[in-house]
Amino acid sequence: MNQQWIDFAKSIKKLYGKDFVALHEPTFNEKEIEYVTDCVKTGWVSSVGSYVTRFEEDLAKFVGVKRAVAVVNGTAALHIALKIVGVEANDEVLMPSLTFIATANAVSYLQAVPHFVDVNEETLGVDPVKLEEYLAQIGEVRSGELFNKQTNRRIKALVPMHTFGHPCMMDDLVAICEKYNIVLVEDAAESLGSYYKANHTGTFGKVSAISFNGNKIITTGGGGAILTDDDELANYIKHITTTAKVPHQWDFVHDEIGYNYRMPNINAALGCAQLEKLPIFAEQKRTLTDFYDKLVANLDGVHLMKEPAHTSSNYWLQTLILDETYKRDEVLQLLNEEGVMSRPIWTPMYELVMYKDCPRMDLSTTEYLKLKIINIPSTPFKGSK
Ligand SMILES: *Cc1c(COP(=O)(O)O)cnc(C)c1O
Repeated sequence: MNQQWIDFAKSIKKLYGKDFVALHEPTFNEKEIEYVTDCVKTGWVSSVGSYVTRFEEDLAKFVGVKRAVAVVNGTAALHIALKIVGVEANDEVLMPSLTFIATANAVSYLQAVPHFVDVNEETLGVDPVKLEEYLAQIGEVRSGELFNKQTNRRIKALVPMHTFGHPCMMDDLVAICEKYNIVLVEDAAESLGSYYKANHTGTFGKVSAISFNGNKIITTGGGGAILTDDDELANYIKHITTTAKVPHQWDFVHDEIGYNYRMPNINAALGCAQLEKLPIFAEQKRTLTDFYDKLVANLDGVHLMKEPAHTSSNYWLQTLILDETYKRDEVLQLLNEEGVMSRPIWTPMYELVMYKDCPRMDLSTTEYLKLKIINIPSTPFKGSK
């Protein structure tokens, strides 16, 4: 088995023309230098400046939502998104356990409780069929609000996450949220440039969160955004993410406990340049998918994760799914030794000390998938093959 993986690693190094290939690297050129230099030269690097507004407008337009509010990172975006839809202490929030830690932490910041639901193999995201069956079993609607009969806590929201850029089955998840009167908040941190049917991910939830961390499809260094179609809500989000300061020429008056979550102008400048290139990155990632498709055909018992039906994925992180003949860590060890950075999917949240006692449904698909998934280099591929 080793030789086929060594050949696989060789082909990847040859493609990128490097002896060591990282999992995901940012791609910059003159545009980023121009906009960032502009910030430095004019002194507008911090909490005031025109790039933030421009970035918010460009982003909203690209995604197809009314408003985007730029913040310091995706975790902060999730925190505020959950807070403003009314998640309160002791509420439960449904979410996959197969996600980055930020999804669960954002719930905890509000003293609420993550409630883990299973994923399906088609999307690697929340399984609507299993969720619906589960809620019929454990849920009870009391004066219009959903409660968990087993814990007696209110179930306030569902946070689907579009894993590695592949959209969840949104029609079904939207229907479940409507049926049970729970709020939909999308963790679209990984899925900028991904569409479910005709609509961009992040447009289905009442509010949604995006991340622009260094490893995401576009980066602002660190950064995030909250998306919404509700103007009034967007104004309020802007207010509490900028310390809830009442506008005044010189006086400091704040009308509630706000957050210092504003994205600095210099980060937004980077973001404006990156956003201009997003369609190109997405296209390059599809070219990379075609390349991997051919390579993976030479690997026995391995398949490449493809975009689910009715979706167009940004293919943010390329994903291999190994069959039972493989020991995941042996493959990871070998690829990393060969200079091809690869890593497992996240440890499911319920295996972490902070979240081991949280409520959860039967997670058999998560259990099955967690040791079979590896991510391989996914930097947008520029050159010719
Ligand atoms: C990247 C990411 C976030 C947010 O991360 P930040 O580093 O805070 O920007 C949230 N959820 C998921 C699933 C992510 O991948």
